[in-house]
Amino acid sequence: MSRMPEGVLREAVIDSGAITANVRHLRALTGAEVIAVVKADGYGHGGVRAAVAALEGGANRLGVADIGEALALRRAGIDAPILAWLHAPGASFAEAAAEGIELGISSFDQLLAAAAAASAVRVVGVHLKVETGLGRNGIAPEDCAVVFAEAARLERIGKIRVLGIFSHLSNTTPHDDRAALARFRDALALASVHGLAPQVRHLAASHAAIDLPEARFGCVRLGIAIYGLSPFADRNSADLGLRPAMTLRAPVAAVRRVGAGHGVSYGYLHRAQRETTLALVPLGYADGVPRSASGAGAVRIGRSTFPVAGRIAMDQLVVDVGDAPVAVGDEAVLFGDPTLGMPPVEAWADAAGTINYEIVTRIGPRVPRRQVTQ
Ligand SMILES: *Cc1c(COP(=O)(O)O)cnc(C)c1O
Repeated sequence: MSRMPEGVLREAVIDSGAITANVRHLRALTGAEVIAVVKADGYGHGGVRAAVAALEGGANRLGVADIGEALALRRAGIDAPILAWLHAPGASFAEAAAEGIELGISSFDQLLAAAAAASAVRVVGVHLKVETGLGRNGIAPEDCAVVFAEAARLERIGKIRVLGIFSHLSNTTPHDDRAALARFRDALALASVHGLAPQVRHLAASHAAIDLPEARFGCVRLGIAIYGLSPFADRNSADLGLRPAMTLRAPVAAVRRVGAGHGVSYGYLHRAQRETTLALVPLGYADGVPRSASGAGAVRIGRSTFPVAGRIAMDQLVVDVGDAPVAVGDEAVLFGDPTLGMPPVEAWADAAGTINYEIVTRIGPRVPRRQVTQ
C-alpha cells in the first residue's frame, strides 16, 4: 500500500518532466513550431512551471488568454515570446507592450490600440486573429481588407509588426474544420495582397495539430496535449504517446468500520450493503472535485479502484472499501497516469459529464501543487 508523506492533507503532483517530454513528442509528431498554451495557470498545473517545462521541451512561444497572465509570466522571469489574445474592452496595451507581450488582435479598434502603445523605441508585435467560423473573437471576413490595409500601413510607419496571423477551429467534424481552413487560407491570401508577411501562421490547437496535418501551417498552439491529456473522446493519452502530468492525491484521513445499512455523506445516497470499511479522503468540490461525480468518480487506494460513495462534500469524500486493509495515511489517488495504474482524469470527466480540460483547470487554489521531474 502506498503511503502519503506525513503532514500532507492534499496535493496535485505535477511532473514537469512529462510536460517537457510531451512538447518534445508533439514537436516531432507535427514537425511544427509550438506555441505552448499556458493560460488558466497552465491548465491548473501552474503557469510558470508549465511554461518553463514547455520551453525546455522546445516550445518556441507561449500563449495565454489575457495580458494579466502574460505579465505574470514576465514577472516570474520568463523572457520567451508570449502571445495574449483576449482583451478587456477598451484595454490599454501600454503595459503589455512595455513588457514585449505580443497581442492577438481581433478588431480594428484593437489594432489602433496596439499602435497607440508603440513608442519611438518600441514596435508592438501583433498576431491578427481572423474569424473562420467559431463565432468567438477574430476579425470578421468582411472587415479583413480594411484591418489588413491599416495593419500594413502601421507596419510601414514602424508602429507595429505583424508577427502572425491566426484563427481557431471548432473541432466539430473534419468537414467543418476544412471549411474553416479554407476561410483561413483566403484570409492569408488577402493579407499577402495587402503586403503582410507574418513570420508565423497558426490555426491548429491540440485536436487539429494531431489529426488534421493540413491545418498545421508550420506552427501549432498546443494546450491540453502538452499536459499529457487527449483532446479526443476515443483516444487516451497513451494512444497519443502522451504522459499525463498531474496526479491528484490525498491521504486517507480516517477509516471507520460500519454495519450494513450505515448511511454515507449528505442525503445518504449510499448505504453500506454489508459490514464494510469507509475511508475518508480530504478532497471535495472546493478543491475542484466535481460534486456531479458523486457516487461515480474513481479513487485508487492500494491495488484497487473504488467509486466514490455517496455525495462529494465541500472538503471531503468517502470511499467504501469493503474489507480491503485500508489504513489512515494510505495514499488515495483520484487521477494520474493510467499506465501507472491510476484512474485517468477522464474517468472523473465522464462521471461529471464534462471533459478532462475542465477537471484539471478547476483544481482549486487550496490544493498545493508539488513539482517533481521524472
Ligand atoms: C485554449 C486555446 C488553445 C489550446 O487549445 P487545446 O485544445 O487545449 O490545445 C489554442 N488556441 C486558442 C485560441 C485557445 O483559446
